[in-house]
Amino acid sequence: MPDCIFCKIANKEMPAEIIFEDEQVLVFKDVKPVAPVHLLLIPKKHYTSLLDLGEADAGLAGSLQATAVRIARDFGFAEQGFRVVCNCGRDGGQLVAHVHYHLLAGRALKWPPG
Ligand code: AMP
Repeated sequence: MPDCIFCKIANKEMPAEIIFEDEQVLVFKDVKPVAPVHLLLIPKKHYTSLLDLGEADAGLAGSLQATAVRIARDFGFAEQGFRVVCNCGRDGGQLVAHVHYHLLAGRALKWPPG
């Protein structure tokens, strides 16, 4: 999508601190971190929100989740715990219209969210 900032990051047209990528998935640091570890996991292909990830995309959804777990292990915070969040739509607090998972760690996270 031409005006999508996460597509631009995926296409390397916009800078980001990329920490992992494979054919389908890109992981980079959130520009405004809310925890000591705050990463964003995105599919390189544009999907506007979680609503667009259907049955046919189950493999991609699984890859995103498996990537979060692999990073948690590789970065050494798997045991202390972490949170994976996908904000969807207005009430979900989604600001960027390209599906993404927040991976948060490094402090005790509160629940419920605000
Ligand atoms: P959400 O509210 O779930 O849509 O979250 C969007 C997230 O993207 C926020 O945490 C922003 O700080 C982050 N963000 C926006 N633009 C960039 C960017 N260019 N590079 C890295 N993170 C970004």
